[in-house]
Amino acid sequence: MLEGYEERELISSFRRKGISKNEYAALLEAAEKELERGRPLAYITGEQPFYNLAFYVDERVLVPRPDTERVVEKALALAPPGSFFADLCTGSGCIALTLLYNRRDLTAAAFDISADSLEVARRNTERLGLSDRIEYHVEDVLKPASFRRSFDFIISNPPYIKTGSISDYPSLSFEPHSALDGGRDGLDFYRAIVENWSCLLSPDGFFLFEIGYDQAADIIKIAGNAGFSCGIFRDYGGNDRVALLKKKQVQFGAL
Ligand code: GLN
Repeated sequence: MLEGYEERELISSFRRKGISKNEYAALLEAAEKELERGRPLAYITGEQPFYNLAFYVDERVLVPRPDTERVVEKALALAPPGSFFADLCTGSGCIALTLLYNRRDLTAAAFDISADSLEVARRNTERLGLSDRIEYHVEDVLKPASFRRSFDFIISNPPYIKTGSISDYPSLSFEPHSALDGGRDGLDFYRAIVENWSCLLSPDGFFLFEIGYDQAADIIKIAGNAGFSCGIFRDYGGNDRVALLKKKQVQFGAL
């Protein structure tokens, strides 16, 4: 049985696509079968609400999660006026584009290893009329950065699930593996980003990461080893979810 919410979402997506009422019944039945198989509703409707916007999504990108809205909220509060920022592993572009939409003073460069995902992000950029404030680059953030400008902050929701745990969550099998797999201990991307991208942070710059609910202690360690202090913030479910890394200021003694 379709839940009321799912049925409403499906019908409004049929309407947007100009599908006639006579066709609804067959399409609803087909969608119900897909949902039973575990396919995310967002891939069926082609749209996912996120923060105060709606994003086009398909199987090329991870479906934006409410947890990630918390990262956006922190960034909106912390971004200095006029910032230029990087969004690493941008996927659908939901983080970067929500920041740009809600803060007209910001500009961004967004990166992803998947050229396919950047097509989705570009589609969202055009839909939201933000093309003049963001550039996109295919980039493997596990390797040294090829970009040469500095950023006021670097934000990322990288893949952070342990390789061996992904199959514990059957619902994730519909989403791109490369957007989820954080390596053996789930931390590959944090280590690599801190190592490869710190040199691109402005002197007062910071990293803002989405993290797994059980990764705070590991991230604090990674940050400390690289000379960063680290603050952790919870999501609305009460789980650790956001890490803020700032360069430790070198203390000079009085001369
Ligand atoms: N939050 C996602 C999940 O647990 C994982 C996203 C990610 O790896 N960045 O389903």
